[in-house]
Amino acid sequence: MNFALSEDQVAIVDAAKQFAASRIAPGYQERDKTGRFSRELTKEMGALGLIAPEQPEALGGSGVDYITTGLILEEIAKADFNMAYVQLLASLNTQILARYAEKELADLWIPRICAGEAILGVALTEPGGGSDAANLQLKARKVDGGYRLKGEKASISMADQADVMIVFARTGAVDSRARGVSAFLVDMTWDGLSCSRSDDLGQRSIGRGSIFFDDVFVPANSKLGDENKAFSQVMEGFDFSRALIGLQCLAVAQESLAEAWAYIQEREAFGAPISVNQGVTFPLAECETMVEAARLLCLKTLWLKDQNLKHTKEAAMCKWWPPKLSYDVVHQCLLMHGAGGYGKDLQFEQRLRDVLGLQIGDGTAQIMKMIIAREKMGEYR
Ligand SMILES: Cc1cc2nc3c(=O)[nH]c(=O)nc-3n(C[C@H](O)[C@H](O)[C@H](O)COP(=O)(O)OP(=O)(O)OC[C@H]3O[C@@H](n4cnc5c(N)ncnc54)[C@H](O)[C@@H]3O)c2cc1C
Repeated sequence: MNFALSEDQVAIVDAAKQFAASRIAPGYQERDKTGRFSRELTKEMGALGLIAPEQPEALGGSGVDYITTGLILEEIAKADFNMAYVQLLASLNTQILARYAEKELADLWIPRICAGEAILGVALTEPGGGSDAANLQLKARKVDGGYRLKGEKASISMADQADVMIVFARTGAVDSRARGVSAFLVDMTWDGLSCSRSDDLGQRSIGRGSIFFDDVFVPANSKLGDENKAFSQVMEGFDFSRALIGLQCLAVAQESLAEAWAYIQEREAFGAPISVNQGVTFPLAECETMVEAARLLCLKTLWLKDQNLKHTKEAAMCKWWPPKLSYDVVHQCLLMHGAGGYGKDLQFEQRLRDVLGLQIGDGTAQIMKMIIAREKMGEYR
């Protein structure tokens, strides 16, 4: 087992780190106030090859392995958790397009997404529920030359900022559940579409909202994969994004810990730095231990994907533990900063708000544990 990075990996991760620190980090709190992510920075990230770098060069990527994609995303998330969403969505969704879109469509959109010129979101959740995703109701009615979409998607990241959206809709009978769902690539400028935004606790520069479909015409060539098969085909891509989400969240924990280790050696109480107290250093040492373990889990999951090995259970582990752990670590680091940690001059309060969202987004801990339990019970049946 070799934990060392190759020279190429070190070079690209270093480039991402420098860019993130100099260009992205300074605007983290400001973008929370404006409620918009930066299109300008997204294009710069694209020009540097930092968006969906695992895509082949022919489609605008750099053809790197999945571990490298994770390491790059981690560096961006250290600077701004929310700007890393650009990469997360791009990696998840370009993979789906590359595999299931007609070539013409994939050739049109993937290079634009890799270049940071277009944002591609994913719309699965509906007002009726997200955990029981197979119960979705948005209807895709077959018409001449394509489909008409009618209904509502809810709780969708980038709903009012994305350029295109992968939309899951029912093409089968009402009670066909997972067997009657298809996926479509929808241009957000098409007639009959409108959006609203919810006033959220965190991830405010990304935004989350509803998308309303009023008989939106979708040409037949925008269907992704086979009709009625979106659940078995397109959804498998989520194992990749779950490992990336783990690293995205842990990046915030790592930054918070780095700040806490420095602060406790400067701050004095009772005539000595507070770091002389094991009551201060031990909680941070415990956080370091768990962050290290969780990060290795995410990297192992990406390694399994690189080897083309099954990683559904590991991906579910990455999706429930690191988001919760990161929230707890940021909380601990905030407390180590005393009253200063509670204010908006430091970033802990925003990090807490931002990272919390991914305990729900992309599936809750309960749903992830169901996936793990199902696989383990299958092994021992
Ligand atoms: C920040 C954020 C970003 C998001 N981005 C997107 C996006 O881009 N695209 C998209 O499609 N969706 C997105 N979502 C929606 C998200 O995927 C859903 O919110 C999530 O799957 C949970 O669905 P729900 O909110 O309807 O909760 P529900 O499904 O109503 O669940 C409510 C509670 O019940 C629990 N529960 C439900 N069923 C069970 C069970 N069988 N056993 C135990 N517990 C159970 C859940 O864990 C949860 O705690 C986002 C959500 C958030 C918060």
